[in-house]
Amino acid sequence: MTHINTRCIQSGWKPKKGEPRVLPIYQSTTFKYDTSEQMAKLFDLEEPGYFYSRLQNPTNDFVAKKIAELEGGRQAILTASGQAASFYAVFNICEAGDHFVSTSALYGGTFNLFQVTMKKLGIEVTFIDQDAPAEEIQKAFKPNTKLVFAETIANPAGNILDIKKMAEIAHKNGVPLIVDNTFATPIHCRPFEFGADIVTHSTSKYMDGHACALGGVIVDSGHFDWSAHTEKFPGLNKPDESYHGLIYSKTFGPDAYITKATVQLMRDLGSMASPQNAFLLNLGLETLHLRMQRHCENALKVAEYLEKHPKVAWVNYAGLKSSPYYELVQKQFTNGLTCGVIAFGLKAGKENAIKFMDSLQMIAIVTHVADTRSCVLHPASHTHRQLSNEQLLAAGINPDLIRLSVGIEHDSDILADLEQALALS
Ligand SMILES: *Cc1c(COP(=O)(O)O)cnc(C)c1O
Repeated sequence: MTHINTRCIQSGWKPKKGEPRVLPIYQSTTFKYDTSEQMAKLFDLEEPGYFYSRLQNPTNDFVAKKIAELEGGRQAILTASGQAASFYAVFNICEAGDHFVSTSALYGGTFNLFQVTMKKLGIEVTFIDQDAPAEEIQKAFKPNTKLVFAETIANPAGNILDIKKMAEIAHKNGVPLIVDNTFATPIHCRPFEFGADIVTHSTSKYMDGHACALGGVIVDSGHFDWSAHTEKFPGLNKPDESYHGLIYSKTFGPDAYITKATVQLMRDLGSMASPQNAFLLNLGLETLHLRMQRHCENALKVAEYLEKHPKVAWVNYAGLKSSPYYELVQKQFTNGLTCGVIAFGLKAGKENAIKFMDSLQMIAIVTHVADTRSCVLHPASHTHRQLSNEQLLAAGINPDLIRLSVGIEHDSDILADLEQALALS
């Protein structure tokens, strides 16, 4: 296996003689066949092949392959957004009457999806504190629990997941661990190496990295043995009526999970990534390793600056020596590097947080995070405003929390903007 930095550039599309050097965009909804029988075999999943871009498209597949190789996984599927990736990852193995366990320190959109929308589909969630002891977390499991969901680095609170601990708890209960690895990216953490079974991403963040294309991805390690739990996972182990009684785990073995997500969920629900967006995502991936390093270097300088600033009450950045997660970060993250996102609060509280943000000149207020440009957001009044104060605290979000996404501008300009805005607040 080549170095991960090389994989960012070389994995995925590998042109043969006379083919384009750069990944082509297969801007086509459909694909041509010579006989009716050839097409029929595709519909019966007897032969692999492209027939309609709602299910599969070559551009998307080359990019998915690259991401699978970055994560050290077996197979991957691109989705239209990170939300679609989270939904499909869960819905691929849960149905009405099922239950799952999720950490409460979560991206706001995921929290709403799990708490409100999944409930309408008859799927119940129990939120847990990921830092609680294993015996405490164990209490959340029920006979109908189908999976555990968590974020490597929680957005926006910055809590770091002990992946090994959580994978052990999940496996003891015969269920997979799904990890949203958006903030760490495979450059700094590969959850499969610590026992996670499935990884999701909002590629809209660091992977695309330029805030130009929404997208998501689900990567399967291929390690979870679905057929060892026939009754728990009927969707993968019982005949699928919509394919003449095909059984995914039997026919596709370790490819069962991604195949089912492709030929069943994508077929029925859509949410396919557009090939154009997949192309843009691939461009982003080519520099992911360079950008992640600079994001982290800049963020550490900013976090150290904020920590010393008299107007700053607290800073949550796992790269800081003072962080309670510092030890775990050294074990779980490449070179101890995490991401460019910092959470902090001002001594003067929520009101001043708004004043501070409005005083920034270069650092923009946007509903985004993890792209080249430094930006800032106040979760309690923006992304997480639907949450009650109790839910905010459970998600690790103080009402005064400012989420600062440190970009890859020169650090002196980022620090100067913070300095002048802090002086005014
Ligand atoms: C943004 C985000 C999502 C949702 O992704 P979209 O691409 O915006 O749909 C999911 N998880 C995390 C950690 C995120 O930051």
